[in-house]
Parts: sequence; structure tokens; C-alpha cells
Amino acid sequence: MQAFMLVTFFLNLNREVFFMQDLQLTNINVIKKLIGKENFQFSKSLGQNFLINPSVAPRIAELGNATPEYGIIEIGAGIGVLTQELAKHAAKVVTIEIDKKLIPILDKTLAAHDNVKIINDDVMKIDLHKLIANEFAGMRVAVCANLPYYITSPIIMKLLEDELPIDSITVMVQKEAATRLTAELGTREVGAITVAVRYYSEPKILFNVSKGSFMPVPKVDSSVIRLDIHKGIGANEKDDNDEINRDDFFRVVKASFAQRRKTLLNSLSSGLAIDKQEVRAILGKAGIRENMRAEQLAMNDFKEIAKQI
Ligand code: SAM
Repeated sequence: MQAFMLVTFFLNLNREVFFMQDLQLTNINVIKKLIGKENFQFSKSLGQNFLINPSVAPRIAELGNATPEYGIIEIGAGIGVLTQELAKHAAKVVTIEIDKKLIPILDKTLAAHDNVKIINDDVMKIDLHKLIANEFAGMRVAVCANLPYYITSPIIMKLLEDELPIDSITVMVQKEAATRLTAELGTREVGAITVAVRYYSEPKILFNVSKGSFMPVPKVDSSVIRLDIHKGIGANEKDDNDEINRDDFFRVVKASFAQRRKTLLNSLSSGLAIDKQEVRAILGKAGIRENMRAEQLAMNDFKEIAKQI
């Protein structure tokens, strides 16, 4: 009797593991069953819109450097739809998920992948340098995620400002955010974050994703973007960003865009608390007209102003 129970136990276990490998995490019925079992409720405040379009996660993985030479950091696993895809192709995946109610679900949906580590924490509180050193020794590293929209910019800024030894950041964000993050300098869509993104990386929009691709359906469409980190950042070789003081550069950028409708003379004077005569002299030395506006400047213009300061 005991032997029979043992055999039944292992058969069930195998069926469970086998079944887990084949779980279609983009299938609404599968999702409902999984979350129902754990009494999980979607949290709007945590930006929980899970992917249900089966073609999207494989494309993010393919375009986001998920290959055998890479370790991938994922932010916001949800129920693991993108994590599974990344784990199929990358050497290792470390996924950071803030919501502890998702962890028992992830333990099931990722059970078949022994190259995945789940960390239940807030990405904003994690020392990512340490994580990379501990988890990805000898691997190239990239970030892939379907980001929670309420915290898109802070996460991207953290990833960039920490100057991590990573090659790329491939993330799904709201379409409007994608436009701003990838805008060319000198265009109307530019904001302070656009300049920051271009200081650290070369951004581009990879493809758009309609709002019907998510559960629950969000209000707006999304886009997947990739930021290829410049040489000179993180573990890469140095480049011309080293000639300028980073703090000065970002003080200038922030002040320039703080009142974007004002002329540079006015916005820099109030933003940097320097009198107008002095700002006039700085702009003169940098070769920039005082009546220009922040959105008209090129990267080099911001760098020149920072050098003069
Ligand atoms: N990757 C899944 C997918 O594509 O279906 C889920 C994406 S969902 C847009 C964002 C996920 O990020 C949610 O699971 C949410 O709980 C998680 N999240 C929100 N804020 C977070 C934070 N500060 N740190 C880590 N994860 C976070």
C-alpha cells in the first residue's frame, strides 16, 4: 500500500512538472486558474498588467540579448510569462518581483527552469552591482522587463545612473514614455530624461504593443524600447563623457528643462541660482544663444555649458 502511494505521489509530481513546462501563461483560463488558487488580486498601484499576447515575450527575449552568453536581470516577473522565455535562451535569469503574493505562483510556473532565481524585493532598494557580481560572474549582462508603468522613469534612471556593467536595457513602457525616452535631441518631445538616456546609451523603439495584449487591459498602448549602453559606462572603456563633471552636466540639464518654455538665460539663472550676467557669460563662452530653449540644444551644447560652469 505504501509503495503504491509512493508511486502515485511521484507520478503526480512528474505530471505536475511536465504540466508546468507546458503552461501557457498567456492563456486567460490558465492565468485565472493560477491566480485563483493563490487568491491573487491584480494591484493597479503596482502596475500589474500581465502579457497575454503570446508573440510579445519571445520577441523581447530575442531582441533583448537573451542568449547563452548572457545573464539577464528581469524586473517585475508577474506570473513569469517573460521570465520563462528568457530562461529558455539565456544562461541565467534573476527576476526581481516586489509582490510577495506572486512568489508561490512563480515557484510553480518557473519550476521547470533551474537557471532562474526569484528575488522578492523592490528593485529600487536592491544593490544591483552586488547582485551582478554575485550572480553573473563570467557572463555578459542585460536587463529585460515589462516595466510597471508607475515607476518607469525612476527604474530606468537607477539602471543608468548606477553605471552597471550591462550591455543593454530592453523594456516595455507606455508608448508616450517610449517617445520621450527615445526622442532625438533638438525635437519637441525631448525632456530632461531624454538627455539622460542619451548621455548613457543609444535608445531605439523596437516595436509597438497594443493595450489588448495585457490583462487587465491598460488605458494606453505600449512600446518595447532598447537602450544600448555606451562604451565608457560601467565596465566598458572610457569615452568623452569623462571630460565633464557628471553632476554639473545633470544640474545644467535639470535647470534647462525645469521651465522649458523659458529661454535658457532665464531657466539657467533661476535653476542654478546664478545671476543673469554670469549666465550670459557662460552661454557666450559655450557658443550658445541666450534666447534658445532647452529642447533646441544638442548633447554637446549641454556638455559645453557644464564645462563652462
Ligand atoms: N513580466 C510580467 C508580464 O510581462 O506579464 C509582469 C509585468 S507587470 C507590467 C509589472 C510587474 O512589476 C508586476 O508583477 C509588479 O508586481 C512588479 N513590480 C512593481 N513594482 C515593482 C518594484 N518596485 N520592484 C520589483 N517589481 C515590481
